[in-house]
Parts: sequence; structure tokens; C-alpha cells
Amino acid sequence: MLRPAQVSKQRVANNSKGNGRKTAGYNPVAATRVSEILKRLDQLYPDVTCALTHRDPWELLVATILSAQSTDVRVNMVTPELFKKYPTVQDFAKLDPQQLEPAVRSTGFFRNKSKSVVGAAKLIVNDFGGNVPENMDDLLKVPGVARKTANVVLGTWFGKAEGVVVDTHVHRISRRLELTKNDDPKTIEQDLMKLIPRDKWTLFSHQVIWHGRKLCFARSPKCVDCPLENICHAEDKTWSTVEKHKGAKA
Ligand code: SF4
Repeated sequence: MLRPAQVSKQRVANNSKGNGRKTAGYNPVAATRVSEILKRLDQLYPDVTCALTHRDPWELLVATILSAQSTDVRVNMVTPELFKKYPTVQDFAKLDPQQLEPAVRSTGFFRNKSKSVVGAAKLIVNDFGGNVPENMDDLLKVPGVARKTANVVLGTWFGKAEGVVVDTHVHRISRRLELTKNDDPKTIEQDLMKLIPRDKWTLFSHQVIWHGRKLCFARSPKCVDCPLENICHAEDKTWSTVEKHKGAKA
């Protein structure tokens, strides 16, 4: 699926190309440039979806809460046993958070996460008849759920594009690609929602998250292999054939 860029042997790596000044008239959020970025992401990651293992919206909600400051791989190691032990949201709602702590300990921040998961279960059972809400306003009432988690559940499970998931990868890569100059996830989300067609919001998030895992690492991104390289002016690129732009960095 991932096709490394065709890098000519004659091209010489130039890690310091560019003086940081932008070419006059350059607009990083021009519709043609954004559409080219989306096209290349589609070619690179045509069928990607959420990497968190889940069978229903409750499991996805729990997995997303557990994934904060952790990795999907780590969470996927924990959740099969967890859902075997507590198969329904009602089972979670009967727990004290302390009872859940050992099972989620390895995902980090386990005390807060246990509180959030049990609190979420109680609210969903008491206020929503045991069903995960299908809209942003109600989801944001659930303990441990902020816009990022709500967007994951709405987009991935319910197929509703209410926003763009801004996790650490989307945050970093949107800045490198100059789709935003902001640093706050909520504002970045607003910037992306203005630039990207609504029917692409969910897929775009998944594609960028995969790009962050495969190539555009926080440290030492693999720019030499990146098919977006010649339209990416990130200041912290490790290899570049185009000018780098000051401030376009993670
Ligand atoms: S060229 Fe480098 S910094 Fe730019 S998107 Fe690709 S991997 Fe990331």
C-alpha cells in the first residue's frame, strides 16, 4: 500500500535547502494545493481506518479513552481481555474505578482512565439507556470524552462527520504541511474543517494518523521516502528538494 517516492539517484540530499523565505505569492492553503495533498494521501492510504480494535461503539469509546498518551498497539493488547471480563457497558457501570485499574494499568494514566471509563459507563447506562450517544452534544457530556474522542466515535462507528480528529499526528503534520499555523487542537480542527471537504474529514484524519506512524515521525521524519515531499516545506524536514519555510514545523 505504501509506495516510497521514486527518488532519483542523481538527486542529492540537501538538508539545508531554502532560506526560510517563502516564494512571493505562495499560499499554503490554496484550494489546488490542499486538493493535491488530499489526492496524494488517497493514493498512499486508500483504505485506512481506525487501528483500535472494537466491535461496537462502546468498545471504541473505551479504547479511544485508553489510547490517550498511549499507543493503539498497547491498547489493543489490553482491550480483548478487558471486554472478555466485562462484556457490556452495564458491567462497567457496576464497577468502582479502582477495580478497573489493574486491567488498564499498562496504558498509562490508569487512575484517571479508570475513572473516565467507569464514569462514562454509568452516565451512558443512566442517561442514554446503555447506548453510546450518536451526536456531539451528548457525547461531550460523557466523562473522559472531549472532541477528539467524540470525533473518533462519530466518524468511525456512526459514519457522521462532525469534525476532524486532531491527535498528536494530525497536530504535527497539519503544521508541517502549513494547513494551520495554530498550536491548539480546537483551533487546528476549525482550520482543517474550513479547508477540507466535509465528506473527507474522517478519512483525512485516519490517513494523516497513518502517515505519522509510517513516515512523518515526530523525530526524524522519513522525508526521502515521502510522496508529499515536493509540496512539503516543513522547517524540520530531514531531506528536501524544495525550500523550507520557517515556522512550518511540529
Ligand atoms: S516531507 Fe517529511 S515532513 Fe513533509 S510530510 Fe513528508 S515526511 Fe512529513
